[in-house]
Amino acid sequence: MTQQPLLLLDVDGPLNPYAAPNTRRPEGYGTHRLLPESWVARNAPTPRGRVKPLRVWLNPAHGAELLALPYELAWATTWMDEANTFIGPRIGLPELPYIPWTEVFREDPDGLHWKTRELVAWAAGRPFVWLDDELGPQDIEWIEANHPAPALPLWVDPRAGLRELHFAALREWAEDAC
Ligand SMILES: [Mg+2]
Repeated sequence: MTQQPLLLLDVDGPLNPYAAPNTRRPEGYGTHRLLPESWVARNAPTPRGRVKPLRVWLNPAHGAELLALPYELAWATTWMDEANTFIGPRIGLPELPYIPWTEVFREDPDGLHWKTRELVAWAAGRPFVWLDDELGPQDIEWIEANHPAPALPLWVDPRAGLRELHFAALREWAEDAC
């Protein structure tokens, strides 16, 4: 049996369209105020009780829509394992594997996104789609040159989040690539 391709999911941007205008929550989304430990740590030395929770917009339909795709899902987000606690259950996703970054936001010597090298290493030669609002042309080029299997780095507008065009692209790519 052939393995399904991986779908590597960023949270902020694709699932949480954080850059949409503050006063106009995108349709279909609910508002959550979350206080993951990684956010508390990023706000150090502010004590936990005084850290302002993150406003996260999530669409409860996304879990089922993602699970219906012919992919194996995994988190590729600064939320790491906290995505399983804070994000997955709110959109109907089961516990998923996650990429355990050695250092988030690390500056890359060649100007790649800080996720790119570790993400490709983690994929270990398997076909993948990567959904992220921060990847750029240099990442697409580098992945093309350094990943031995088909890969589709797919940019998502953080003002709009995942849309039907992404789901359509995902279905089409899985058919062509595998
Ligand atoms: Mg993001």
